[in-house]
Amino acid sequence: MVDQDRDRDRERLEAERRLALERLATVTGDFDSVVAASLDTNADDEHDPEGATIAFERSQIGALVAQVRRHVAEVDSALLRVEDGTYGVCETCGGPIGSARLAALPAARTCIRCAGRSRTG
Ligand SMILES: [Zn+2]
Repeated sequence: MVDQDRDRDRERLEAERRLALERLATVTGDFDSVVAASLDTNADDEHDPEGATIAFERSQIGALVAQVRRHVAEVDSALLRVEDGTYGVCETCGGPIGSARLAALPAARTCIRCAGRSRTG
């Protein structure tokens, strides 16, 4: 891989990382406000329909926060692969991931064929 490609990959991943961190700030902001709202309601969740809704929202946002954090970690590990020259190589078959797939999913670890295969089992 030539240096120019490496720079382009790095820039794309850094842009992806910034977006993910902005998203994380948004969802954690939401998460904090939901937690604050749930602290304000002193009724127990079981008998208060509103309390149950807040508990549901909290678990939904918690899952979203975990998902975005995982994505940031994926982007970080992709940046490490750019540095050691293994970025864009499928971890399953060792073939090229393909520039279209990397443009859509900069942190992709596998080529589209291997990704499709693992999804179907
Ligand atoms: Zn593959």
